[in-house]
Amino acid sequence: MNVYENAKSVIRRAGEIGKIDDDLIRILLNIQKEIHVRFPVKMDDGSLRIFEGYRVQHNNFLGPYKGGIRYHPDVDINEVRALAMWMSLKCAVAGLPLGGGKGGVVCNPKEMSRTELERMTKGFIDAIYLDIGPEKDIPAPDVYTNSEVMGWIVDEYAKQVGKKKEEVLGVVTGKSLSDGGSEGRGEATARGGEFVLMEFMAVKDKKIVIQGFGNAGRVFAKLISKNARVIAVSDSKGGIYKGEGLNIEELIKHKEETGSVVGFRDSSEIENNELLKLECDVLVPAALESVITLENASEIKAGVVLELANGPTTPEADEILFKRGVQILPDILANAGGVSVSYFEWVQNMRGEKWSKEKVDEMLKEKMGVATKEVLGKAKELNVNNRLGAYVLAMERIGRTQLQ
Ligand code: GLU
Repeated sequence: MNVYENAKSVIRRAGEIGKIDDDLIRILLNIQKEIHVRFPVKMDDGSLRIFEGYRVQHNNFLGPYKGGIRYHPDVDINEVRALAMWMSLKCAVAGLPLGGGKGGVVCNPKEMSRTELERMTKGFIDAIYLDIGPEKDIPAPDVYTNSEVMGWIVDEYAKQVGKKKEEVLGVVTGKSLSDGGSEGRGEATARGGEFVLMEFMAVKDKKIVIQGFGNAGRVFAKLISKNARVIAVSDSKGGIYKGEGLNIEELIKHKEETGSVVGFRDSSEIENNELLKLECDVLVPAALESVITLENASEIKAGVVLELANGPTTPEADEILFKRGVQILPDILANAGGVSVSYFEWVQNMRGEKWSKEKVDEMLKEKMGVATKEVLGKAKELNVNNRLGAYVLAMERIGRTQLQ
């Protein structure tokens, strides 16, 4: 089963459990619009390459479509569909007036130069600009895209619609501060995850394992290591372990210098699959989908799984973990900090305001605290796992908007 089928199966299940209106379930099982484009890009060596990209707009009942753009060789339509669906639910869980969308370009950014990435980004925006906009669909960063890519998007969008950049800042979030971005957006996914975890349990001296050392995993490691012990982390090249806790500041430097966490002094190497099964208090998948599956779920020894990645746990694994008493803090709650601060950025752009870091962090803390209580409350009320609780909550909220 692919991730899109997985996502739909959870919607069906939550729909039944939450006694959600059948029409709404059918609406959410369908995607409103899918844009599939192929576009040419001049490479540095003068050759021309055709790239393939998607923008999927799942649902806009609560507001404009919202969601990141991912650059990865494995991007495919079903993955982008699932990610778009999760965005609709995530925005509803976080109480944001936004719908769900997602985009992706099939490419390997690690093998492309900065100028090639810029031309590819602009080519993609040329191909989809009619379908995005500050009140229509608002992209953001996701796997292997960052604030610089978002800056190229505003520039290209402004050019295509014949407006000044300042007039269309709200077309994309996750921009750098100098491009009209918000304080706190870069750290928001990790910080939001930390707020969720702290609402759920005391983190002092707890043992944490993090799979993935991109924006979310790295920043989370930095924040949580102030109170807890990060005993293992991994990235796409491998994993490292140190029982007494890794020095995260040093590790970040090591990764910046060498391109990987592997080879960090004073640590031993560990295979990704072994890392997931380590004895720990909190396991944090912070990379890609479907890493906790039927194959390894019965061997997960963590008490809590905090999903900073989207879709890291398959529905079969969910069942096993729930039966074994492992608590999941599901993606559509745990990583909603990113889109929450994206929303704050968008509001600032639309109103021409600039908020302080303190204000953004305070608002994020409040939002994540409330959402966590609501999700846990719903799961308890229905006696189901936290993911189903979050789905039911989201579906009820989307359903409250008028069906036309
Ligand atoms: N890509 C992030 C996510 O999956 C952020 C989306 C956004 O800020 O719009 O939640």
